[in-house]
Amino acid sequence: MKASVNQPQKLAFAPVAPPKPPAPPITEQTLKIKSGDTLMAVLVNAGVNRTEAHNSIEALREVWDPRKLRPGDEITVTFDAAAAQGDEVFKGFSFEPQPALRVGAVRETDGAFAPAEEKAPVLTQAYRAEGTITASLFQNGVEAGVPVAVLVELIKAYSYDVDFQRDIQPGDSFEVMFERESTEDGRTVREGDVHYAALTLSGQRYEIYRYEDTTGDVDYYDAKGHSVRKALLRTPINGARLSSGFGMRRHPVLGYSKMHKGSDFAAPTGTPIYAAGDGVIAKSGPFSSYGNYVRIRHNSEYDTAYAHMSRIAKGMAPGKRVKQGDVIGYVGSTGRSTGPHLHYEILKNGKHVNPQKVRFPTGRILEGTELARFEETMGETRSVYASLPSATEVAAAK
Ligand SMILES: [Zn+2]
Repeated sequence: MKASVNQPQKLAFAPVAPPKPPAPPITEQTLKIKSGDTLMAVLVNAGVNRTEAHNSIEALREVWDPRKLRPGDEITVTFDAAAAQGDEVFKGFSFEPQPALRVGAVRETDGAFAPAEEKAPVLTQAYRAEGTITASLFQNGVEAGVPVAVLVELIKAYSYDVDFQRDIQPGDSFEVMFERESTEDGRTVREGDVHYAALTLSGQRYEIYRYEDTTGDVDYYDAKGHSVRKALLRTPINGARLSSGFGMRRHPVLGYSKMHKGSDFAAPTGTPIYAAGDGVIAKSGPFSSYGNYVRIRHNSEYDTAYAHMSRIAKGMAPGKRVKQGDVIGYVGSTGRSTGPHLHYEILKNGKHVNPQKVRFPTGRILEGTELARFEETMGETRSVYASLPSATEVAAAK
């Protein structure tokens, strides 16, 4: 429009900004920890002087042990190229030792270093998985998406009742509900607790529920509120490491016979062997055809014995007190043995009994208000489980 063309141009006078000092250029270096590196060496290599490197590491120590640094961790080192000083000032460093956690040290205005710790929000979610056992609970569990840590916990909880070498048959099945903590961007922080599991072995169903009692003790109970914990373990070895009992052509004896008097568990050499129950070491050392042998006296009635060990754990001398689950030795093939396995015996009043048949006295039984609380927890657990899609369904839907 003509009119507008002839109008004098209006000039806007912007207020003059007061002169600002130029923002100090902050520079960052990211350095990957290599095997054998110390944090000190990494900081010094980045150009930090030794005193400041030392002081900043001391600050870190309040929130994180620098010795826990692992190869592959990435350290971000920050400098401020302050013009006035003509030299770079070390501002601090940080790294992420695990998802959802950043730790480090920050230089404060007085020049001292303060520890820094930043936690990202963590989401806890329940997951459900189920499957049929064709190889082993461990292998089929992994295939069904159950994390290894969860399977290990699960197998441990069942080791009082289940003989993982003999009781698991092809076609048996499992169900499990566990928790996973993850960051908002989907990285796993922690594989959490097993809340519920069921094993169906040769048609018999074994359910376990996680329950925290009124005193804060956490344990697994069956649906009647009986603790899974027994005085002795039926599988005194990490069940996750057992070679599959079925489908193997060559195998040690693997059963109980009058002549054999024990149960064999086939596992790789070096697999830890656990004390089946609390007790005192009664005998330890080479013992004729048993090879390296340990016997534990549990009470006036029961003893257990472990044979063919590659070696006996340190300190397991007669008289030594052990707790259920303590490592007493390692699987081997010493003595009269055809391959690495644990030969496990249970003796009652000095006589061998069949470990597969012996009934252990039940452990804790919940009663009264404790039982009522447990039943409430069990009800909630069951309804959460029923509401979750199974891992198999989730995989199929994708
Ligand atoms: Zn044997």
